[in-house]
Amino acid sequence: MKVLKFGGTSMGSSQSLKAVSEIIIKNFEENHKIVVSCSAMSQVTNKLIKIGQLAEKWEIKEALVIYKEIVKKHFDTALELGIEKEFKHTSLKIFEDLEGVIRGIGLLHELSDKSHAYLVSFGEKLSTRLLACYLQKQSISATQLDSFFIKLKGDNFKEDNVDYEKTKSAIEKSVLPVLENNSIPIITGFFGTNDAGIISLLGRGGSDFSAAILAKSLNIKVVEIWTDVDGFLSADPRIVKNANLIEEIGYEEASELCFFGAKVLHPKTIRPVIDYGGEVWIKNTFNTTCAGTKITQKAKPSCHAVVSISSKSVVMITLDVFSVPTTKCKSEIFGEIFSTLKKCKVGVDMIASSESLISFCTEKNNIHLDEAVNALKKIGDIKVYEDQKILCIVSPKDVLGKKGVAAAIFQSIADSGVSVGMYSQNASEIAQLVVIKESETNQAIKQVHQDLVEKCTLI
Ligand code: ASP
Ligand code: MG
Repeated sequence: MKVLKFGGTSMGSSQSLKAVSEIIIKNFEENHKIVVSCSAMSQVTNKLIKIGQLAEKWEIKEALVIYKEIVKKHFDTALELGIEKEFKHTSLKIFEDLEGVIRGIGLLHELSDKSHAYLVSFGEKLSTRLLACYLQKQSISATQLDSFFIKLKGDNFKEDNVDYEKTKSAIEKSVLPVLENNSIPIITGFFGTNDAGIISLLGRGGSDFSAAILAKSLNIKVVEIWTDVDGFLSADPRIVKNANLIEEIGYEEASELCFFGAKVLHPKTIRPVIDYGGEVWIKNTFNTTCAGTKITQKAKPSCHAVVSISSKSVVMITLDVFSVPTTKCKSEIFGEIFSTLKKCKVGVDMIASSESLISFCTEKNNIHLDEAVNALKKIGDIKVYEDQKILCIVSPKDVLGKKGVAAAIFQSIADSGVSVGMYSQNASEIAQLVVIKESETNQAIKQVHQDLVEKCTLI
C-alpha cells in the first residue's frame, strides 16, 4: 500500500492534473492499494489568506474579486478537462459556503484563527473534487473525502497538534470502507478537525504532514510526495549550478535540511512514517522517469563530508549576561528568556551560550518579534542583528567520530572570505549550523559545495 501526495503545482492546471491522474492510474493498475492526499491548486491558499485579510478590513468587494478568480481558475480547469458539468454538481455548495464565509468575515470585521482555518480549508476541498471528478470521468472509481477524520487537539487553529489515537479510529471508519470497495480515496490535505468538529490547520505546507498522518494511521509503509522538483538536492540549484540529486538520505539528515529552509518537504512529515519503519519518497510529477529521493532510517554509506547545504533567513539576538543582576543564576536567565519567547509566540531555531553572552536565532518575519525584543529588554541588554542566515551544513551519519569534518567546513567558509557570527553543532554531528550575513550566503554555500560535496574526503 502507498500514500501518494500531490502538491500545489501538481494540482495547479489541467495539464498537471492529467499528469497526476496518469501517476494514480499507473499505480492502481500495478495493483497497489493507494490513498491520495492533495494540496490546493497552486496559489489558491495564498489567495484565500488574502481574501480573509481584505474581508476583515471590510473590503468585501476586493475580497470577492479574488474569490471570483478562484472560481474561474477551477471552472476553466474543469472545462479543459471536460468535466465542467460533473465538477459544477459536486462543488456548487462548496462555492456557496465559501462566499458565505467571506461575507460573514466582512460583516463581523473579524478574522479569528478559527475562521481563518475554515476559510483556507476550501482550497483543498475544491482541488480534491476536481481530481476525483477527472478520475471518475476516466472510469476510475475515486471517492473524494474531506479530512474531518484527522483529529487535532484544537491547541492552535493555524498549526495544530495531532491526536493519533482518535485519528486512527476515525480514519479506519471513514477511509477503510472506501479501500475495501476498491475505490481510491482522494483526501484533502492541510486540515483536520478538533473534538467539537471545528476545522483546524496543520500549518503552511501541511499537506505533506497530512500524508504522513494517513500513512501512520493506516500502517502504510510507503509515502510518495509528488512535487515539482526531482528530490533533495545537494544545494539550492539557483546558487550552485551543478547541485546534484540525492538518491537516498537518512531521516535525521533530511529533517535538518527541511527545518532549515529546504522547501521540498514539510519538516513534520518524516518522523511519523520513519517511527514505524516506513519510508518517504520525493518524486517529480513532471519528470516521472527520475527515481527521486528516498528518505530512510539509514542511508547508504557515503564518502562525502557534506551531503547538502540549506539555509534559512533569521534574526540573531544576543543577551549580555553581565548586564543581568548577579543574583540571577544562568538557569534563571535561560528560564526567563524562554518563557518570554513562548509568551510572545517566537520560536528559537538555534542557541549558543558562554559565560558572558547568550545568543540565539529566531525566524525572520515573525510578526511578534518586536514585542518579544521589547520584553527581552527587561531581562538585560539585548542586541538584534537583522539580515542573517543560518547555513545548515549536513553530513552523512558516517561522519560520527571522524576527525576533521568541522575543521574542514570552517576552513572552507574561511576560504570563501566569509566570517562566521555564531555556530552550533549538535551531538549527533550531522548538522553544523553556521550564522553568517545574508549578503554572503551564496559565496559560502558555493565554496562548501565545491570543497566538501563535490569531493570525496571521508576516507
Ligand atoms: N495548501 C496549503 C499551503 O499552501 C497546504 C499545502 O499545500 O501543503 O500551505
Ligand atoms: Mg509543499
